[in-house]
Amino acid sequence: MIWNPTMETMPKEQLRSLQDERLRDVVRRVYENVAFYRHKMQEKGITPMDIRGVCDIEKLPFTEKQDLRDNYPFGLFALPQSEIIRIHASSGTTGKPSVAGYTSGDIDRWAELMARAMYCAGVGKEDVVQVAYGYGLFTGGLGAHYGAERVGASVIPMSGGNTARQLMLMEDFGSTALCCTPSYALNLAEAMEQAGITLDRIKLKSGIFGAEPWTEDMRKHIEEKLGIDALNIYGLSEVMGPGVSMECMCKQGMHIWEDHFLPEVIGDKGESLPYGEQGDLTFTTLTKHGMPLLRYRTHDLCVLTDEPCPCGRTHVRMGRVMGRTDDMLIIRGVNVFPSQIEHALLQVQGIEPHYRIVVDRVGSLDTILVEVELSSWMMSDTVKGLEALEERIMNSLASHALIHAQVKLCQPGTLPRSEGKAKRVEDRRKF
Ligand code: ADP
Ligand code: ZN
Repeated sequence: MIWNPTMETMPKEQLRSLQDERLRDVVRRVYENVAFYRHKMQEKGITPMDIRGVCDIEKLPFTEKQDLRDNYPFGLFALPQSEIIRIHASSGTTGKPSVAGYTSGDIDRWAELMARAMYCAGVGKEDVVQVAYGYGLFTGGLGAHYGAERVGASVIPMSGGNTARQLMLMEDFGSTALCCTPSYALNLAEAMEQAGITLDRIKLKSGIFGAEPWTEDMRKHIEEKLGIDALNIYGLSEVMGPGVSMECMCKQGMHIWEDHFLPEVIGDKGESLPYGEQGDLTFTTLTKHGMPLLRYRTHDLCVLTDEPCPCGRTHVRMGRVMGRTDDMLIIRGVNVFPSQIEHALLQVQGIEPHYRIVVDRVGSLDTILVEVELSSWMMSDTVKGLEALEERIMNSLASHALIHAQVKLCQPGTLPRSEGKAKRVEDRRKF
């Protein structure tokens, strides 16, 4: 199922010339209408005339999250407020959130891209889509909502939380697709088990999960527990919201909709890296009118590939995001992402994918404690058995995440559960 075959399977050269044209257009628009970009371009001694197409992308300035903060709230909008019909903001755990403004055309394009995402997951007009992403300033809920509506599905706008009710309606309304964070999907699966709801009572067949990093191991886990295809979706509010990229049924990375976004992967020295190399994912929005961005540094680490995809879509794919550079932990000089710890944990039998990472400092030494829940069948094991399990977890952490962590086995159901983005790390170090 391909929602917009003309655009999604467009030959590469044609896609590139469309990008060239759209890039020239967006550069002209921000130069004329956004003081921040005009100044940045003047500093670099360039005008829109210097940008002939994608080949000139490296001449353009980067945009950082700090630039959004400095221009808070509406300083990067490229149109007068009368043209802005919606304002969203990032979840922004610290400080001022970053704000994004949309024209009605922007909302329409968002719906189109989320419709592509729905079709990627095999979700169409016959489907009942339960949207359990939060509705509100966070873009998850409304984004998924627009896509599901655009393909003609029946949408249940549940929003996040209220787990017992989610399950009741999932069963009663016969939801066939679920949209939420992977950690909430896991939470729902667990609650279902506890409520004695067996898979034959629900009709779920696919999940569109994103907004936080997760691993291939977690995918398998969720797919088994819910009996579905679990697909990865990526986005961020600054660039649009969910649906910047979406995985197809091949499950080999997420197609970035290149007719609307120009992705780059940037290396440590600010250079644009070739496909296949890992770096900081960076986007130039080609068709946004409310708040277009040039070379926005997401600080999400990933790899791009333009290997042909069996689904027939020609748009470049991004691999799983390991995490944001801001979320990287440095433990005694070793860099580690929570997703690497998740991967290491899920290699071990006898524990569940509910975990928390506590980082602290004793004297001048960093310590890391990984708390993880036991599987219920391990509960009655002997002390010796549990010690051996701890040992296996420590070894897995050492070999897969290269860290020497203390491990604490917890009773099933005792670690906090997430209803949106999971908070996995508690950093108690005082800097
Ligand atoms: P906030 O920055 O407040 O979390 P957003 O809600 O816009 O704001 O979140 C966007 C971020 O969420 C991305 O930059 C990325 O770090 C993360 N994210 C979104 N989707 C995924 C995904 N599928 N895999 C990994 N990380 C993701
Ligand atoms: Zn594909």
